[in-house]
Amino acid sequence: MERRKFLTTAALTAGSVALFGKRSLASMLADPTFQFKTLRGNVGMFAEKGGTIAWLVNKEGIAVVDAEFPEQATHLIGELKKQSDKPFQWLINTHHHGDHTSGNISFKGIVNNVAAHANSLSNQKASAAKQNSDDKQLYPDTTYTDKWKIKVGDEHITAHYFGAGHTNGDSFIHFENANVVHTGDLIFNRRYPFVDRSAGASCKSWITTLEAATKQFDKNTIFVFGHAFDPLKVTGNMDDVKAMQHFMESLVTFVDTSIKAGKSKEEIIGAKSIPGITEWQGDGIDRGLTAAYEELS
Ligand SMILES: [Zn+2]
Ligand SMILES: [Zn+2]
Repeated sequence: MERRKFLTTAALTAGSVALFGKRSLASMLADPTFQFKTLRGNVGMFAEKGGTIAWLVNKEGIAVVDAEFPEQATHLIGELKKQSDKPFQWLINTHHHGDHTSGNISFKGIVNNVAAHANSLSNQKASAAKQNSDDKQLYPDTTYTDKWKIKVGDEHITAHYFGAGHTNGDSFIHFENANVVHTGDLIFNRRYPFVDRSAGASCKSWITTLEAATKQFDKNTIFVFGHAFDPLKVTGNMDDVKAMQHFMESLVTFVDTSIKAGKSKEEIIGAKSIPGITEWQGDGIDRGLTAAYEELS
């Protein structure tokens, strides 16, 4: 396990990618192990299974954004404890989905506070009630509705809510000094997104939510994405945010013009491609098409 972990870490450096070749790198990433690395300053990322995590470690304490699943959260906590004996001050959830909040429970008794958008908390409670998994949740004790700010040591962390998108409770979490932003699932980088209409998602609003992000953050911002088609591209820059915005615009335009042209639901949902979109991959193109159709028809 230790050796595999070392290999994966080593493989993530550019030189090693060339050394090992693309195929063996992919097979190594299939191992049940994780990415844990610093992005800038005291802020880094963790990815194993589920939505990518961002973390901060400084002289005063530790903050974590999202929690994957219980086992993965335990791996992350172990890594962070190697870096620091300071208290876990905050766990912040970008939104309620299980691949971002199931691991909250691993922070029970470890973290001082858990925060999320108010809609994220109500969605989490509704999901847990439906799945009868209330006892497996660690719920946020702190909620906000638009903008919310905290300080951990010398780092300022701000949550921004710009409206519905992937759900009705998605926040961007900005580590301001490091200028690193966790986008949650508002960005599926080059991968067909999941659109949770049962939790208030909106394809149209998703576009304006991303537009607000392009105005709030800048060309030097490092972004951490909830998901990516390529596991090495769960982080990126403003161009990737704009690419996601272009994807959502193209999706909405295609479905809207198809409905107006009198195409059937089956024809629209069964489309194998979206005009103007070349980089998006993976399964589930129908998820966005279905959601957009239901929203626009
Ligand atoms: Zn997710
Ligand atoms: Zn999600």
